[in-house]
Amino acid sequence: MADGSVLLSNDAGFTAAVSKADFARFSAGRLGSGEKLYGELAAKGFVREMTDFEGFAAACSKKNAFLGAGPGLHILVMTLRCNHKCLYCQSGALGAAGGRTDMSRAVARKSVDFALKSTNPGITIEFQGGEPLLNWDTLKDSVLYARRRAKELGREVRLALVSNFSLMTEEKARFLVENEVSVCTSLDGPADLHNKNRIFTGGNSHADTVKWLKYFIGRAAKQVPEYKTFNPSALLTVSKYSLGREKEIVDEYLRNGLTDIFARPLAPIGYAKNLWPKIGYSAGEFAVFYRNTLNYILKLNAAGKKIRERHAVIMLEKIINGSDPGYLDMRCPCGAAIGQVAYNYNGDLYSCDEGRMVGWEGDDLFKIGNVLKDSYRKVMLAPASRACAAASNLESQPQCSRCVYKPYCGVCPVYNYETQGSLWGDMPSSGRCALSMGMFDALFALLKKPASAKILKGWVQK
Ligand code: SF4
Ligand code: SF4
Repeated sequence: MADGSVLLSNDAGFTAAVSKADFARFSAGRLGSGEKLYGELAAKGFVREMTDFEGFAAACSKKNAFLGAGPGLHILVMTLRCNHKCLYCQSGALGAAGGRTDMSRAVARKSVDFALKSTNPGITIEFQGGEPLLNWDTLKDSVLYARRRAKELGREVRLALVSNFSLMTEEKARFLVENEVSVCTSLDGPADLHNKNRIFTGGNSHADTVKWLKYFIGRAAKQVPEYKTFNPSALLTVSKYSLGREKEIVDEYLRNGLTDIFARPLAPIGYAKNLWPKIGYSAGEFAVFYRNTLNYILKLNAAGKKIRERHAVIMLEKIINGSDPGYLDMRCPCGAAIGQVAYNYNGDLYSCDEGRMVGWEGDDLFKIGNVLKDSYRKVMLAPASRACAAASNLESQPQCSRCVYKPYCGVCPVYNYETQGSLWGDMPSSGRCALSMGMFDALFALLKKPASAKILKGWVQK
């Protein structure tokens, strides 16, 4: 670690930070069994002859409980059309005119039926695009159909909408709240920064976003008796323009009543690949941004403000609670097909939304079937489903299998394929691996400081 200590981890997800001198004694077998550190390491499963294998197995099993569940996230691409032209867009969206790439009601209903075949007991159907509100009639029909079928089948179904809110109206918003469709949008910071990233020639993207965030948060705060709690969320995509503006961005989230901020690095794929020299940055630059953001959030927490960073929450859930937070892009194997399925407007099925975007560029490597033709079993056993599971198994990644962050990390076959030309990729030269390391380094450094550790642990306390 940066302070010269050595971080240890094991497959059950336990960690211990020890000084270099103690580590040298421990690895040479010279740590006395009566020493406090020996007791700590033994209790955490680092001493073979003292390991409680039943406890160790129970911890492994809890951590990997998702393995037998089946896909929980079902992303329905309502349309490829969008009225924004965001600098970093990966979705392959088209302009707002025409309806050639809109999902029909028939395909949407088939998609809902397919999602309900999942063996996962609690599924989420997420409506995405392009901008899904451009295909409102199908979206509305799908919501009502999913609610009806879930009731008939006695299934737990969560519904979610990812939208830029620019086409939201009072009538649509009421419908979403009444049918318990949670909403998620993008908020990249103050107006000038947000609008620089999220180009909307038909209006002011930032103004629409904050207007409707306020509306939906107001609904949640009121907890209108006939509605259940309804918590809107927002995503932050970090472009080069965000660097150095950490405080302003966090303040913007607080100002708009949001209690979580999800600082997501850019990936050099989709539109962002071509614009990388203009909007991209190095993993080191992102690490600085991430550290500054976390430090500022912790300072606000210490002053009594309520706000968390989502990546940290995801990692802490694994590190502190030893459980899987359901984040599909950072787990082993990753969520491709076995954790999520993306349904394209025409019924084609992909391992994930990122796999669908590769398909949109003309390469169907990540296609796993079609909702109108293929059975659930066939889709789950498709070559791409199996290849992604194998490629994202960290045990088969030479660098990951020896990495201290392995118990909490995950690799992305789509990212590897797009940036390095193979599903397995090469972690020592992978930009995504470097980004993950930067975030883990920042978090573990903070966990070593008692004051920040107390706040961070509070974020995931049950
Ligand atoms: S991707 Fe990188 S940080 Fe993650 S486990 Fe592999 S080597 Fe470690
Ligand atoms: S392939 Fe990548 S984007 Fe797709 S589920 Fe896996 S980690 Fe996520």
